Parts: sequence; structure tokens; C-alpha cells
Amino acid sequence: MDTEVLIAGAGPVGLVLAYELARREIRCRVVDRAAGPAENSRALVVHCRTQELMEAAGLRDRIAARAIPVHGMRFSRGRIDLACIPFDLGPYTAISLPQQETEATLRSALAEKGVQVEWGAELTSISQDADGATASVGGQSIIAAYVVGCDGAHSATRHVLGIPFEGDALPETVWMADAALEWDIDPDYARQFLHPDGALSVIPMPGGRWRLAAMALPIAGDPSREFFEAALSRRSGRAPARMTIGWMSAFRVNCRLAASYRKDRVFLAGDAAHIHSPIGGQGMNVGMQDAFSLGARLAAALQGGDAGVLAGYEMERRPAAAAVIRGNARITRLAMAKGRVPRFLRDHLMPRFLSLPPVSRRAGLAASGLLLPRPAAIA
Ligand SMILES: Cc1cc2nc3c(=O)[nH]c(=O)nc-3n(C[C@H](O)[C@H](O)[C@H](O)COP(=O)(O)OP(=O)(O)OC[C@H]3O[C@@H](n4cnc5c(N)ncnc54)[C@H](O)[C@@H]3O)c2cc1C
Repeated sequence: MDTEVLIAGAGPVGLVLAYELARREIRCRVVDRAAGPAENSRALVVHCRTQELMEAAGLRDRIAARAIPVHGMRFSRGRIDLACIPFDLGPYTAISLPQQETEATLRSALAEKGVQVEWGAELTSISQDADGATASVGGQSIIAAYVVGCDGAHSATRHVLGIPFEGDALPETVWMADAALEWDIDPDYARQFLHPDGALSVIPMPGGRWRLAAMALPIAGDPSREFFEAALSRRSGRAPARMTIGWMSAFRVNCRLAASYRKDRVFLAGDAAHIHSPIGGQGMNVGMQDAFSLGARLAAALQGGDAGVLAGYEMERRPAAAAVIRGNARITRLAMAKGRVPRFLRDHLMPRFLSLPPVSRRAGLAASGLLLPRPAAIA
């Protein structure tokens, strides 16, 4: 064997998995086809359940030290607050940190365990038998006891295994921007500004920056500064004293789940196994939770445990992703609603319903990942 576990993909999921294996003294290699780390912000929010797992692994303090708290999601119509979903119902309040900084923190923690990401190394094929799996990576063969595809939504691992990615794409595109804003708004909360043009999400980031995400766009083309300036003042009822836009991005929302998370010695985790809309900020969280679960299970199997422990991975994690995708698809369709009746439901009835304490509490527990089973902690 060249290594015990080969991990394809050094996104947040591959990095957590490698750390979980390395801290249990399992030999692993992490290969990534990119030339180096991604430098844009993508996922921001780390919810309570993920922080509980980070704490158990000794990672939470390092991530939290660079992040800011997000106590909940407020629903507003212009300057009028209508309802709030709390994000501080468990032991840890949600935190916000740009994904490239989360990844940098994970890479340093991993380097301290003696594992460096191998960049510019693309996995292109895998063969396996009873003794191990052989992957072709950047033209070289790597033999491992197990291979894990943490290689994102377009996963080569999933394609090589022939595992269908079941689901569909929504017709709308979400536009996102990161902006430095000077405005009169509490940075401890994310917001959904409800408006007939469509909802505008704003999520605080460290350093006085905000993520803006506009739903239900009636227009094609590329996101622009002019669009976000107009959307912000119309939908939030505020004109910021200063607005400097950095990163902008547009993407189609897909809701998809891999038909299986495993073929013999090869596993899928993170976006390679499940994707959905960024609304609710669950993608990276569910993926990291996959990695915590699989890391513990692979280590147990490699250290002589019952092989059944590996069968439990898909049984535990696939229903968790399916539940998130179902809930997320409902919220996304509502956020993007176009007809008069769905818009009335979104802009008027939903906030009233969410202002009922048992409803907002349940929504907060769901957002924090606290309604899903805790990924198995196998020492
Ligand atoms: C524009 C944008 C905005 C987003 N916003 C949010 C958000 O607000 N909230 C949220 O929760 N989520 C958001 N997401 C999703 C979030 O970024 C993902 O859920 C998260 O990155 C998944 O992590 P991952 O490690 O599974 O996959 P990825 O982060 O996609 O990492 C996969 C890695 O695999 C590598 N790779 C790919 N193919 C191969 C191969 N053949 N061989 C070797 N390496 C390979 C890639 O280079 C990459 O580094 C956003 C995503 C995008 C693109």
C-alpha cells in the first residue's frame, strides 16, 4: 500500500476527513487537481452541530477565533422586523467565516499532523479488488486500502463508480456578492429582506463585509455592482454610506443526492454525494459532518474493528442529506416564488408563522443541524 486512505479533493470535506484520520494515526494522502487553494469565500456559516464535532476533534477554537457570531436569521420587510430564527439554541452560536479561511485553518491543523495537500494531482480512474484500490492520479498509480471522493459536485470519483446523482436543477440562478458596507444594521444577525422583487439575503462576514444573495432574478447575464446597489436599497429600505463589492458569483441551484455513498472500497462525501441551494447554509456543514463520521469509521475499520462499522456510514449520512435536501428545496422554491399567491405566502404568511415561538425554535434547531442524528462518535 502507498497509503491507507487516499482522499481526492482538498475542500473543507477532504481536509476534515484527512485531519480526522491523521489524528487517529491513520496514514492518508490528500490530492487535489487544482494548482492551489481556492481563494473565494463561498460557504460562510458553521452551525452548532458542526462546531460540536469540531470541538471533539480539537478544531473549534482555531476556527472560531477568526470568525464572528451569527445569532440568528431575521426576516424583515424594509426596516420592519417580522420574525427571527435563532441560531443560538445549542452549546454554540453559529459563526461566519469565509470558506477559504476555514480551509486555510484546516490545512494548518493538518500540516501539524504531518499531512500536506498534493496540488495539481487529478484523480482520473480507480480499480479495486479484495485487497485494495488503485487510483490513477496525475498519471501515477496510488494503491490504498480505501479511496474517498471528496471531489465536489462534479466528482470524478462518482463518475468512475457509475453512481447516479439523482435530482434536478431549479430554473433560477442565484446571484451573490461580497461587499464591504457601511450601514445601520446589527452585524450579529443574518437577514432575509422580503420584497415583491424576490428575497435578498444578507449574511455578516468578519471585517465589516457582508454576503448579499438575491433570489428569483428575472434577468439573465452576469451579476453587476449596479444590480446589487439597487437591490440593497429597494429591498432593505437602506442606502449604505459606502459599498465596495469584491467577489461576485452566479450559480444555478441543483438539488441532487448520490444513489449510493459507497462501492466496496471507495466512498463519497460532501458535495460529491449531495448538493442543494446555499439558502440555509447547510452544504458545507452536512459535508463536514459526513467527514467526521467517515473518518471515525475508517479509522475503526483500519485499526481492526468490525467491517460493519463502514456499512453504517451510508445508513447514517444519506438520510441526513436527503432530509436537508427536502427541507432546502421547499425553502428555495418559496424564496424564488413568482406567482401572486406564492409571493403572498412568502412575504406575509411565512413571517407570521415564523414569529410563533415553537415554529421559530424548531426552524432554528433544524438550521443548526440539531434535529439530525449526531454523526456516530466512534473512538
Ligand atoms: C459560489 C458558491 C457559493 C457557495 N455558497 C455557499 C453558502 O453560502 N453556504 C453553503 O453552505 N455552501 C455554499 N456553497 C457550497 C460549498 O462551497 C460546498 O458545499 C463545499 O465547498 C463542499 O465542500 P467539498 O469539500 O465537498 O467540495 P469542494 O469544496 O467543491 O472541494 C472539492 C475539491 O476537489 C477538487 N477536485 C475536483 N475534482 C478532482 C479530481 N478529479 N481529482 C482531485 N481533486 C479534485 C477540487 O479542486 C476541490 O478543491 C457555495 C459554493 C459555491 C461554488
